[in-house]
Amino acid sequence: MPTAVIIGGGAAGFFAAITCAEANPGHSVIILEATGEVLAKVRISGGGRCNVTHDCLEPKTLVGNYPRGTRELLGPFSRFGPRQVIAWFEGRGVELKVEEDGRMFPTTDRSQTIIDCLTSAAEAAGVEVRTQTVVKALTQVDGRWQIDTATDSITADTVLLASGSGKSGHRLAEALGHTVVQAVPSLFTFTIPEPWIRELSGLSVDPVHLMLLDLAEELTTTGPLLCTHWGFSGPAALRASAWGARLLATVNYRCRVRVDWLAGASAADWCAGMRKNHGAKLPKNSPPAAIPRRLWDALLLRAGVVDGVGWAQLTKEQMDALAGQLNACTVAMTGKSTFKDEFVTAGGVARDEVTWRTMESRKAPGLFIAGECLDVDAITGGFNFQNAWTSGWLAGNAMAERLGAVE
Ligand SMILES: Cc1cc2nc3c(=O)[nH]c(=O)nc-3n(C[C@H](O)[C@H](O)[C@H](O)COP(=O)(O)OP(=O)(O)OC[C@H]3O[C@@H](n4cnc5c(N)ncnc54)[C@H](O)[C@@H]3O)c2cc1C
Repeated sequence: MPTAVIIGGGAAGFFAAITCAEANPGHSVIILEATGEVLAKVRISGGGRCNVTHDCLEPKTLVGNYPRGTRELLGPFSRFGPRQVIAWFEGRGVELKVEEDGRMFPTTDRSQTIIDCLTSAAEAAGVEVRTQTVVKALTQVDGRWQIDTATDSITADTVLLASGSGKSGHRLAEALGHTVVQAVPSLFTFTIPEPWIRELSGLSVDPVHLMLLDLAEELTTTGPLLCTHWGFSGPAALRASAWGARLLATVNYRCRVRVDWLAGASAADWCAGMRKNHGAKLPKNSPPAAIPRRLWDALLLRAGVVDGVGWAQLTKEQMDALAGQLNACTVAMTGKSTFKDEFVTAGGVARDEVTWRTMESRKAPGLFIAGECLDVDAITGGFNFQNAWTSGWLAGNAMAERLGAVE
């Protein structure tokens, strides 16, 4: 019987298997999962709630959330994007809800709902799932695929590599002539061992411009910035960690970080206005509207502005120093730490080695690659799963077509 084998029982593997089996019933579709538990990452995702996708229905806007994959994902998202994912789950009785920031979760707030949906859809479509089955080798023999596990050898007409970001799947891809872009962490927070930032722990400013200095390319992000007891977190820092993942790895996560707390508004003009119109007021009592009190106190201290002196009495040096602290507050990053256990890696099979209409390999025709196994990753917000659903769906359909052709 024509057979499709899927290596990896994660989000991409399940979505591909279900799509393939539903599109072309009556064939053998087998998922081989290395561990004893399928969909393990779905279970722990989104703090146990599974952030399935994001309420961003315009493919051109959506791709802006993928530091690696921006160009390649535009076509795939136009064919099967968040709109189709929402409908897919709704059609199977799973309602999704949108949170204020656009993240989408099952209304049950339980990742188990997604797991149950995927496992029952797979079962209904006749997908066979074999756990504790590590694929050790993958070779093409006379136009068919031989898949070797520790105990078995399976022959298939088409294979999907959906092994996630682990080394084991990347080795299989390399053995077939693929280039694997070295993995580096993405989505992390910044370690900034400055006591004054630690004292601001819990304070957030929205928006700021955050700029990474000392890198081969300058990188700026905009958004809310959160001060923590170890440094910077919040969307502006996380976005910078994702877009700067490779650049930051090359400097071992040590560089200067510049914050414009006014997000582009000129601090020099604002300070000059205060001096002219409110010269008798004390700077301490007249912060810019966007700056929280605690942060303002810290910036005044760093600028050497002493208490009890009015705006009109500030020296030029103090005015310049204060404008500098507001528009270009520079601190040293000395390392990184994990964001809410959500470790995403940048790296994987080179993006130009698959055809993005079908996810078929350009190096090994008949082999498909989907999900995090590829050099694709996104910022936090449900975008990483969206990539898994989309690429899994495209691969599943193409594999179903391939099975039809060998009948
Ligand atoms: C803690 C955490 C929380 C997250 N939360 C979210 C979230 O809420 N929203 C979001 O969009 N993203 C989230 N992510 C990212 C998301 O989980 C991944 O992008 C997604 O799981 C990738 O799916 P995948 O199918 O490509 O890979 P995976 O889910 O990693 O699945 C790959 C599977 O392949 C198996 N495998 C590997 N090698 C072999 C082999 N040789 N033989 C057989 N099987 C093999 C693995 O055991 C694994 O089960 C989170 C990640 C983490 C770590």
